[in-house]
Amino acid sequence: MSLYESLGLNKNASQDEIRKAYYKLSKTNHPDRGGDPEKFKEINHAHEILSDPERRQMYDMTGSDKESNMNNMGGMPFGMGGMPFGMGGMHFNMNGFGNMFNNNGPQQKQKNPRGPDKTHDINATLSDFYNGREITINVQQQRACSVCSATGSLKTDVCNGCKGQGMKISIQQMGPMIQQTMSPCSDCNGSGKRIIQNCPSCGGKKYKNNDKILKTNIKPGHSNGHKIKFKEECSDSPDYEKPGDVILNLVCKKNTNFEWKGNDLHMNYTISISDALLGFNMIVQDHPNGKNINLSWEGGSLQHDGILIATGLGMPILDTTRFGDLHIHIKIINNKITWTSEQRIALQSIFPDWKNIDSDGIPLKFN
Ligand SMILES: [Zn+2]
Ligand SMILES: [Zn+2]
Repeated sequence: MSLYESLGLNKNASQDEIRKAYYKLSKTNHPDRGGDPEKFKEINHAHEILSDPERRQMYDMTGSDKESNMNNMGGMPFGMGGMPFGMGGMHFNMNGFGNMFNNNGPQQKQKNPRGPDKTHDINATLSDFYNGREITINVQQQRACSVCSATGSLKTDVCNGCKGQGMKISIQQMGPMIQQTMSPCSDCNGSGKRIIQNCPSCGGKKYKNNDKILKTNIKPGHSNGHKIKFKEECSDSPDYEKPGDVILNLVCKKNTNFEWKGNDLHMNYTISISDALLGFNMIVQDHPNGKNINLSWEGGSLQHDGILIATGLGMPILDTTRFGDLHIHIKIINNKITWTSEQRIALQSIFPDWKNIDSDGIPLKFN
């Protein structure tokens, strides 16, 4: 006897007709009123299947109303075990198939443990790196709504479309084959839930915009390219367990006077031969310490491309009271010099390894 026959109906019966027939028969066949318990069970069973459009469709296609595996399959709308699929000997791996439902619950999207980091370049001057500076940046972040725990709803019920599975099975008949495909339920986007009441805090959006001010300091001695990390200050996302970090990358603006290497500063300085030999005063301008510094060289054996060092006038060394050095790279240019023969003899005396001129050579002329 078909399920339709159990209710005294034919295959084309409407849902309304099914409901009415069931109502009538369940009354008259109720065991409490002397009805046959077996018949009563049959009527209930027929109604259960036929009143559910999906199960009815399955029954119409396959002729099977087997439910033996139903509970094992987490409420799937048909019994896989008894499905005469007519699939030419194809076998389903029942366990594998069942596992696709993730222990019969709605499928959870695989989340990455951490979202990507976001790096902001912070431009700073050499004196910022020398003296330190406060940095304040505004970040616009999305935060999971704490009222609804990013569900967007305060009250939910099981999704009608998928009966809470999050997945729907659609059945297509292709000639003798019945093909079934599983896809996320479109009614609930795979969550298996139906929203009854939107969260009033986020208006159902699950996330809220949050303008956050991040504050930190460039410390004296931080290097060019130093990175300051703000843990998990990127936006929350359904794709990540935890948001990524906001990273500030300290970038030193180019300084025209000084080159910064390690803890030391480097600069070029051009002098004459007389400065090199006899000494000079120089003023270092725009030093990152904010002062003009007066330095002196007492004269001596200073050569072109030689380096004079001003100890402690470099950059601060992080977490110490010490400083690097200032390296002054010397370029020597000629003075216009004339001298008397007495001066020339005196000059010869300061270069003891100088050799006298051989008068046989052809004289050169300076252009
Ligand atoms: Zn659903
Ligand atoms: Zn909310």
